[in-house]
Amino acid sequence: MNKTNIASRLRPPMIRSATSTAKKLPVLKENSTNITIPTVTFNKPGPGAASSSSTSNVLASSHAIRRGRRSKSFGVSTAKASMHNKIKSSALTSTLAKKPLAGRVAATNVTSRLNTGLTRTATLAAASKTAVKRPAAATAETTKAVPSAPKLSKFDFKGRLAALEDKHKVLVTTHKEAKSRLEILEDENVSFKTKCEEQEQLLEELKQYKDKYQATERENEHHKTQLKEALQSIEDLKRNLREHEELRRQLHNDVQDLKGNIRVFCRVRPIKPDEEDRMPCNMDYIDDDTLGLRKSRESVMGRDKGESKLEFTFDRVFAAESSQAEVFEDLSQLVQSTLDGYNVCVFAYGQTGSGKTYTMLGSGDNLGMIPRSVDLLFTKIAELEQLGWVYEVQVSFMEIYNETIKDLLNPDSKKSHEIMYNEGKGSVVTNLCTETVSTAMMVKKLMIKANNNRAIAATNFNLHSSRSHAVTKISVRGYFEHNVFNGSLNLVDLAGSESAKNSERMTETKNINKSLSALGTVMLALHNKDKHVPYRNSKLTYLLQSSLGGNSKTLMFVNISPLEECYNESVNSLRFASKVKEVKTGSKRNRNVNRS
Ligand code: ADP
Ligand code: MG
Repeated sequence: MNKTNIASRLRPPMIRSATSTAKKLPVLKENSTNITIPTVTFNKPGPGAASSSSTSNVLASSHAIRRGRRSKSFGVSTAKASMHNKIKSSALTSTLAKKPLAGRVAATNVTSRLNTGLTRTATLAAASKTAVKRPAAATAETTKAVPSAPKLSKFDFKGRLAALEDKHKVLVTTHKEAKSRLEILEDENVSFKTKCEEQEQLLEELKQYKDKYQATERENEHHKTQLKEALQSIEDLKRNLREHEELRRQLHNDVQDLKGNIRVFCRVRPIKPDEEDRMPCNMDYIDDDTLGLRKSRESVMGRDKGESKLEFTFDRVFAAESSQAEVFEDLSQLVQSTLDGYNVCVFAYGQTGSGKTYTMLGSGDNLGMIPRSVDLLFTKIAELEQLGWVYEVQVSFMEIYNETIKDLLNPDSKKSHEIMYNEGKGSVVTNLCTETVSTAMMVKKLMIKANNNRAIAATNFNLHSSRSHAVTKISVRGYFEHNVFNGSLNLVDLAGSESAKNSERMTETKNINKSLSALGTVMLALHNKDKHVPYRNSKLTYLLQSSLGGNSKTLMFVNISPLEECYNESVNSLRFASKVKEVKTGSKRNRNVNRS
């Protein structure tokens, strides 16, 4: 039920019935007869003047009759006594007809309260009473008010009878009208009662609504309290989450420390279909982390001197059939370290053709470490952002060829690129194009662009790529609470480590050797905990300074060719990697507290 309905249903029936009563009640015609009674009484104040005059007429008639009776009835014979009684009763009736004057006060009072037919009934009753109590006074007034009246002869019984009959008729009519009004009023009373019942029902409904409203209010209060409690527990959970997040980072780092901050993985590539006629190297996968190399020894005279056997132990050894996903498993933990604010460096070391580029970039659907790291990085960022972290990621791609840095996102730039080392920021390359990225796809597009630029610049891409170091740098800045964590992930596809076979490429070889041996020297200095670590001996070590020192985690892939003809280079690579494996660094997270 809507408000309007309730309102209309609640409107007092009195108001409506006033109008309807006015319509239903038969209106007495004032001029129909001189003795018409009630109309005057029911008139509202104001337009009552006309009624007043008609009242005077009525009174005039009745008084005239009375006067006639008074003057002529004295001294008549007893025989006329019955007639006299008749006249007396008619006088009483006419007095009753005059009742509006006497009952006017009472009638006006009631009328002012209720303008209904009920009032008229009250008026009638009041008028009759007055008429009975004060006949003499009323008669006196009437005598004064009506100066002349038709005189009937004392013995004009016929005429007087006719007059009395007329009066009787009028009274009968009046009685009928009063009766019909009474019926109407009774009807109205019934409808009034019905409406009262309706209203009572409505009141009951309203009461129920009120009860419901109060119950809802109480429920609301209860929900408010529950909400308050829930908000409080969310706050508690958030605090717990922060504590757990801090603990998780610490534990994760402890695990990484235990695994070693410089880890070396050895990966042997499979023999390619076009190499099947070549002699494979005798390799033994002794266990998950040990690789054995065997080679038959011959004397200068060609006599069999038995077999030389070498064993190398690393953090993991991946056999030829290992998938990219398996190899990535361990690296994925270092991606998490990057997000937690550590500098991570992953590089692939080995002779040309040993599988460095395949490992780092991959081929076809076999995505390598770089695209996998990028995917994981953004997946983890999305997860951590749910916990309240906010991240900014920037990428840059460069190449170091003959000790010169080239910006792979802006290869035509004539500006020189120098490395500046800053304690807070780490190694920074001047004039380098650095792109801010928000999705893995953005990084992959830039990777394709960088590789294309690298290929376009080289006359012989395969040769060129094997003589230069390709560096992908992903800088990550994470905000958590009031702390800022700066991490970086450097992914380096190193130049081939083999020694040059002709003098044509001497400069390149010299530079490659310089940088790779500088890398070895830096590792050794770190291993020996030397005060001075010669990072600046090459562009490569200088660039990777912040990722090779105490504040970093390093993962080195040593890629090995499965061919017997590569045995010596394989041994060189394995020896270099073994040295690196010895290095232990104490890592410290890059954290700036209280960011503004
Ligand atoms: P590098 O970069 O060290 O010169 P590449 O990555 O170019 O060597 O590898 C040389 C060849 O060997 C490529 O054709 C490459 O696809 C293939 N290759 C290397 N490693 C694997 C591997 N794990 N599985 C399959 N093919 C490989
Ligand atoms: Mg390569």
